Amino acid sequence: MDYVADFRCVKCEVTTNDRSIKLCPVCGDGVYDIEFDLDAVTGKKMSQRLSTRANTMWRYSELLPVPFGAEKPSNPLGFTPMFECQSLGIWCGLESMYVKDETRNPSASFKDRASAVAVTHAKSIGQSTLACASTGNAAGSLGSMCANMGLNAVIFLPENAPDPKVIKLLAYGAKVVKVRAGYTRAYELCNEACAQYGWYNRNCAINPYLIEGKKTCGLEIAEQSLMNPFDWIVVSVGDGCTIAGIWKGLWQMHRLGILPKLPKMLGVQACGVSPIVKAFEGDVFNKSEWRKKNNTVSAFLDGSAEKPRKCVITTPECADNGTSTLADSINVDSPRNSIKALKALDESAGAAISVSDNEILKALHQCAKLTGVFPEPAAAASVAGLKRAKEAGVISNNDRVLVVITGSGLNDIQNAGKAVGKAITIDVDLTELNELYCER
Ligand SMILES: *Cc1c(COP(=O)(O)O)cnc(C)c1O
Repeated sequence: MDYVADFRCVKCEVTTNDRSIKLCPVCGDGVYDIEFDLDAVTGKKMSQRLSTRANTMWRYSELLPVPFGAEKPSNPLGFTPMFECQSLGIWCGLESMYVKDETRNPSASFKDRASAVAVTHAKSIGQSTLACASTGNAAGSLGSMCANMGLNAVIFLPENAPDPKVIKLLAYGAKVVKVRAGYTRAYELCNEACAQYGWYNRNCAINPYLIEGKKTCGLEIAEQSLMNPFDWIVVSVGDGCTIAGIWKGLWQMHRLGILPKLPKMLGVQACGVSPIVKAFEGDVFNKSEWRKKNNTVSAFLDGSAEKPRKCVITTPECADNGTSTLADSINVDSPRNSIKALKALDESAGAAISVSDNEILKALHQCAKLTGVFPEPAAAASVAGLKRAKEAGVISNNDRVLVVITGSGLNDIQNAGKAVGKAITIDVDLTELNELYCER
């Protein structure tokens, strides 16, 4: 048994109690969102139970769409550390800031939360092969989770996928299929293969279970900040599932009466590839029926319901930044969870911003240097976005701000290399070193 109430299409809003993984047949292409019976969960009971549970993402079992007793990965996941980083805050123009370190998950990225729910759900419904198309962290995390659970992973990659990523997947025992084409075709072929062979589809664009794993990060942030809730949560955005998941978790904890105040969400994309920032700016979403109907959600933080909620910060540097980005994990030009992401920005009265690759590389180095957490470019984008938002006056210097570091620099070492300078090489005595240090 669980507390799932309904599956609701994010596009046409029709609900169903059919829990199979597919797009909404009514409008034809809407993704489902899983709704929970929060009145039945009750915040008071939830708080009591939480005090007795282990610190992993599974502590929120009432808010997860898998059976309570389901077999889960034995590798502990989630409940990643959150800590204050004053010096990085100062670099961003703030009195201080907090970081949530998602690099500490088993395959060193946030994606493990989604893959963990995927393998648990797949096993609970008797499926033994899971597939996804990805060049990066989604594939890595699925490989890792399937290895732990004794399940088969099939990963579709574009032929030009970089070797280190392929080797990691092969090490996990995944079946790696390189498609002689780009990512889009690999993605389509993966969906076809899932339909043909009945494999479990690990893809946020179709599978609504995955965002529920990502949601656990928001549930954790709520629990870790109860006494002093944040004003802003900063998250980088590719497909949009991550920011939507984190928001959903925060929202549920607020709705349960556990988190006293909701933060605003700052979504960060790269200048070259920023469809969600543009959609938010273009008011495409704000005019929707959904917005009219839900005008009271998270009541406009300053109380004036008339004020436009959108806030887009444009970066001068973006003008000449091309049409791509080195931040691989957020290089998504047709995001498949844009509605969910735009809702998160809108409901939270948040803001969207794009930053240049140059700013991302600078933020990568500063984050590693000032906190000891080594982010990949997509994760560092959030730090760069925070700095920009502070400069633009959207975030003020004494706001309480949390940045989610979504993935480790070790997952994309080549690009990280562009940010960090060079080592020095010396002969086998200390002469040159002495010269270097005496100069100081
Ligand atoms: C996937 C990913 C993101 C963005 O998540 P979306 O759900 O695609 O928006 C950000 N950072 C890292 C490290 C990622 O792997």
